[in-house]
Amino acid sequence: MTPARTPLIAGNWKMNTTPAEARRLASDVIHAVGDPAGVDVAVCPPFVSLHAVAEALRGSAIALGAQNLYPAPSGAYTGEISPTMLQNLCRYVIIGHSERRAYFMESDEFINDKVRAALEHGLTPILCVGESLEQREAGRATDILRAQTTAGIAHIDDVAPIVIAYEPVWAIGTGVAATPDDAREGISVIRETIADARGHGAAESVRILYGGSMNPQNVESLLAQPGVDGGLIGGASLNAEQFASLVRAAAQQG
Ligand code: PEP
Repeated sequence: MTPARTPLIAGNWKMNTTPAEARRLASDVIHAVGDPAGVDVAVCPPFVSLHAVAEALRGSAIALGAQNLYPAPSGAYTGEISPTMLQNLCRYVIIGHSERRAYFMESDEFINDKVRAALEHGLTPILCVGESLEQREAGRATDILRAQTTAGIAHIDDVAPIVIAYEPVWAIGTGVAATPDDAREGISVIRETIADARGHGAAESVRILYGGSMNPQNVESLLAQPGVDGGLIGGASLNAEQFASLVRAAAQQG
């Protein structure tokens, strides 16, 4: 029997909002989302807004996430933020987003260090994997997904707490989401990879989200696909009403 996986809708605010704007957006999201039955909801503002948003979210059903961490508890890493700094503030942390892989040269090994550091500090990693357009056109999408997933969960015995986001790079911020079939196919490759590495039960326990231009128009068809356990949302998460409509869609599918 497949264990029930609670869907997750997580907003990645990226490098947007000042602390004052973030506090306002968080309040608007609380108001628009209300009490989402059967769906986990999170917002991931920039580091400097975590405190303001944590205060705004207090008492609400919406969880807080960070967008990154450095995999050491403390030390001489100028400009970085450690898991110990985040652990009492956040529930989630996005790791290995394609923008960090591309612009900050993050390797699969470094990303695995971060996933393990998050877990060791009680944070839920949202591990992002996904192929670029070039890789897809070269017929390498499956290999890339398998390689990024395998590396991302390396050295981790209990993978159940990890959330994985399938984010095809060509769909992020482009307005061109994956088709529902492509999203289902990518997610099934990821789940099969986990099953091969850690067994079927482990694979069935991991939540796998779709991310890439998800919006109120395409959300229902994407979430209707078997194995799609929610969404990681960029652009649409900056609009409280749009974000709330994605949460409602997830609640209806649940
Ligand atoms: C993202 O960056 O994780 C993302 C999914 O962005 P967007 O929704 O804007 O494509």
